[in-house]
Amino acid sequence: VSPEPESKGGLIDRLMGRGGQEVARRTLDDPMLEQLEELLITADMGVDTALRVTANIAESHFGKRVSAEEVKRLMAEEIARIMEPVAQPMPIYSKKPQVVLVVGVNGSGKTTTIGKLASQFRAVGKSVIIAAGDTFRAAAVEQLQVWGERAGVPVLTAPEGSDPASLAFDAMLKAEAEGADLLLIDTAGRLQNRADLMEELAKIVRVIRKRDPEAPHNTLLVLDATTGQNALSQVETFRKLADVSGLVMTKLDGTARGGVLVALADRFGLPIHAIGVGEQIDDLAPFDPEDYACALTG
Ligand code: GDP
Repeated sequence: VSPEPESKGGLIDRLMGRGGQEVARRTLDDPMLEQLEELLITADMGVDTALRVTANIAESHFGKRVSAEEVKRLMAEEIARIMEPVAQPMPIYSKKPQVVLVVGVNGSGKTTTIGKLASQFRAVGKSVIIAAGDTFRAAAVEQLQVWGERAGVPVLTAPEGSDPASLAFDAMLKAEAEGADLLLIDTAGRLQNRADLMEELAKIVRVIRKRDPEAPHNTLLVLDATTGQNALSQVETFRKLADVSGLVMTKLDGTARGGVLVALADRFGLPIHAIGVGEQIDDLAPFDPEDYACALTG
């Protein structure tokens, strides 16, 4: 996770005016707090969260002389404290098949994440089946097939435009018959017509519950961290469409400042199960709050 790859020194270094000069110390006063707030807001953390973080720092250090290193440490500690409760791997159940519904807008990285997840579960000896539930996007189905081949996992498909719920039902039957450990179900991500999408997701859930009343066991919302504050509204929207149980944040390897994760944790408290750190099959990592906080503060 490297939120600031293009600049020398992180956010705080720039604030403290360090650039080859002696390590600066500044009094933590109101103007400095305002600058800190602004930095956090430009890092996509959102106003409320930025204010809370700086207020906590002010509480312990207002009026004191601080170095860049101290400010970084204080900031990283505050951020890690907010993030720790949400850093939770995806729960694994003994239930067979464990049904994982994957939701999110198109382009967020759903397909890629499903491929990576399938590969990780295969690597620990789990049998996995993927259902290509975005039956309206032929390209998505093809992509998923490519990922399935890479991961060594079968991908169930249905004719273009056919009912995703009926594919999901068939996938349940197949996963049961084969004793699969996990069934990963891709879903459509067209938010243009929310009523349609809501009905589609609800129908998928209805039919899989005919086979297992507790399914889906996980509903993962995949979010693109580079969309900044937009990710917040996507959580709001998808929580109305589905019973979201956890998040996967993709594209944290890019130039995204990624501060929106703090805002998400602060506002929703949904578990962050994993982060996407690249386009390759192994580029899915557990979410580590301390690493993340340090990368963000620089
Ligand atoms: P979907 O439309 O939600 O299924 O999104 P895709 O899985 O097709 O991903 C959209 C684009 O984002 C593709 O070009 C992926 O290679 C890319 N992508 C997905 N996850 C990551 C990630 O963690 N890091 C980077 N750099 N790119 C990613």
